[in-house]
Amino acid sequence: MLIRSLRFRYRPVAAHLIPIRRCNLSCAYCNEYDDRSAPVPTADVLRRIDRLSALGTGVITLSGGEPLLHPDLDVIVRYIRQRGAIATLITNGYLLTRERIERLNRAGLDHLQISIDNVLPDATSKKSLKVLDQKLSWLAHCAEFDVTVNSVVGGGINVPEDALTIAQRARSLGFSTTIGIIHDGTGKLRELDERQRVVLEHVVALGKSVFDFANYNRFQKNLASGLPNDWHCRAGSRYLYICEDGLVHWCSQQRGYPGIPLDGYGADDLRREFHAVKRCAPFCTVGCVHRVAQVDELRDDPEATLVQWFTGAAHRQQPRLPAPVRLLMWAFVRNPGRDLFRKVAAGMSGGGRRE
Ligand code: SF4
Ligand code: SF4
Repeated sequence: MLIRSLRFRYRPVAAHLIPIRRCNLSCAYCNEYDDRSAPVPTADVLRRIDRLSALGTGVITLSGGEPLLHPDLDVIVRYIRQRGAIATLITNGYLLTRERIERLNRAGLDHLQISIDNVLPDATSKKSLKVLDQKLSWLAHCAEFDVTVNSVVGGGINVPEDALTIAQRARSLGFSTTIGIIHDGTGKLRELDERQRVVLEHVVALGKSVFDFANYNRFQKNLASGLPNDWHCRAGSRYLYICEDGLVHWCSQQRGYPGIPLDGYGADDLRREFHAVKRCAPFCTVGCVHRVAQVDELRDDPEATLVQWFTGAAHRQQPRLPAPVRLLMWAFVRNPGRDLFRKVAAGMSGGGRRE
């Protein structure tokens, strides 16, 4: 998927597809759910997957609302796999049972992200470790797909250290961990205080994903300090958000732009949105779009990108960089024969052939 993404500039790396807007929870900071809408008809969801596949989308993530409320979710997951994309799911986990996990195994799910906000439920969020720990155990025993546990720090989260407790529990079960920075109740991103920043750094240091380590250095470190990021958001092109009505939007936080039906979305739209400047970019916290942008930065300038990603320490104790990162740094940056590695990488990403 990564090589294909590096090779073709105007094809979507990832898309979020909403099979249902309804959610069984009502987190105080969330603007992505309602409590009444019906599931999107399965035939419509499958047609949208066909269209995403025709556009060359690498990863299709089912999100919501709560996607496990869709009665045909297994059919949808299986169809994504049949169309050659990676199938992933973002869930609050409440509806997971052993039997439900087995069904997701059989459908061929590649990856599941479960979001946990606090250790004990409170007025902001019921996505708590107390409620979800049993689900994590079932996932550890039954899931044949990869699992990431996402915790959050920032506005509305009462005990910042909860994120670290959640991440430690997730790592003890062998899961990957990520951490997001969220806005306060007014939608504003505020500079994290010292306590929150320490937690953020510790959770990043626990993670095992090279991209998430890079994401901290590239984006989260600035946001935590209340500073803007200088980057080009490629939403609407390399990342698509498909709402329940089948319209393409930049992302969950910028619905309405461009707001074009997926059925008619084509090469001209992908090219236009790739180059469009998004004014919301400097203080954007949408992690999945940051990660997609990193693919393009890596494509355009591998050496500078790797240096930028990995020269800052995520933790005050200066953790040892992950082995794959050290290998990349050696191959592309420090090795006297690095020109050879760069030529090979350029060949894998399409060489001089640029879309
Ligand atoms: S569980 Fe997710 S979709 Fe549902 S209200 Fe909370 S954040 Fe929103
Ligand atoms: S910068 Fe962030 S908020 Fe703005 S369109 Fe891109 S992903 Fe969405």
